[in-house]
Amino acid sequence: MIYNILNKKILTKDDIIYLLKTDKTERNILFKKSAEVKQKSIGNKVYYRGLIEFSNICEKNCYYCGIRKSNKNIKRYNILDDDILKSAKFAFDANYGSVVLQSGEIANDKFTRRIENLLKKIKLLSNNKLGITISLGEQTEETYKRWFKAGAHRYLLRIETSNRNLYYKMHPENKNHNFNNRINCLQNLKKIGYQTGTGIMIGLPFQSLSDLADDLIFMKNIDIDMCGMGPYIEHKDTPLYKYRNLLLPLEERFILTLKTIAILRLLMPNINIAAATALQAIDKIGREKALKIGANIIMPNITPGKFRNHYKLYENKPCIDDEPDDCKQCLDARIAISGNKIGYGEWGDSLHFKKKKYFF
Ligand code: SAH
Ligand code: SF4
Repeated sequence: MIYNILNKKILTKDDIIYLLKTDKTERNILFKKSAEVKQKSIGNKVYYRGLIEFSNICEKNCYYCGIRKSNKNIKRYNILDDDILKSAKFAFDANYGSVVLQSGEIANDKFTRRIENLLKKIKLLSNNKLGITISLGEQTEETYKRWFKAGAHRYLLRIETSNRNLYYKMHPENKNHNFNNRINCLQNLKKIGYQTGTGIMIGLPFQSLSDLADDLIFMKNIDIDMCGMGPYIEHKDTPLYKYRNLLLPLEERFILTLKTIAILRLLMPNINIAAATALQAIDKIGREKALKIGANIIMPNITPGKFRNHYKLYENKPCIDDEPDDCKQCLDARIAISGNKIGYGEWGDSLHFKKKKYFF
């Protein structure tokens, strides 16, 4: 049965659900296939994106997230622009190729201007050589345009779940949290010309395998260029924590995430897929396992060490005491062991995106 499915050109929703349900023997066959598809379509190069989590101040109240506005149990921080630029310079000097700027969601003119200015300065300090991904939530089309013009060329905005009902179990239903708006944002990003990435959390309470299959089909249908998806990890200071008894054990959420990544690689052979940090919160070599079965992007945390402890979206966040330099050495060794090569100094743009552009 599994071989029949893996040999098909087009996978149906039922096929996807079958693959999500596979037992140990069959899932290893799936992983072998997804590794082959990766090798054939994009090769074994892994690209680095130095991740700068520059602020945990957030105006939103997503029910799952540890830095949500209403969580009073954390210390809020906002790294100074000069220190953000130092981190970007570190990434440039370390030959990382790209950086990612991520933070809680803030939407106002001052923030738009601040980011615009930072983007221009990062381009300047790297002679236009650093690629820049941003992940700053839902913004107006105008703001997305300004940031694109200032030098950002990739944007990550996870849909979190493509099931509208489930979306509203994970978020309050109000003007700040609107499912349609999130989809609109993704469309706007694409229209403007960003390489557009989305993703989901895997193992949410109330989420079914049918939901996950729909999520994968959603990604294929809106034709994303990149994906970052990871396991949901409960955080005790969030409203969703009360449903923790409904969750799969962490190891099962981990395996389910690997399967979801592998299936996405089959569905979209030449997109960029990130090995999410949350994988490493469950398994020390979780990200390397993801690289082996289909992922090709890794986002080493280059946030200055003293702030890492405060950007806790979930519990057990790995390496919170490390400094960026420690990470580099540790990662280089890990990636070599996973049989992948590192695309030093390269942007590692989504091949899917490049081909689309070429075609039109
Ligand atoms: N504020 C921006 C970017 C920061 S949050 C935004 O929301 O888009 C980045 C991602 O962290 C979110 O998209 C979400 O998928 C993930 N995240 C938040 N809480 C999490 C949790 N408890 N477990 C796993 N991932 C989580
Ligand atoms: Fe804020 Fe993003 Fe966390 Fe939602 S997921 S609370 S928008 S940081």
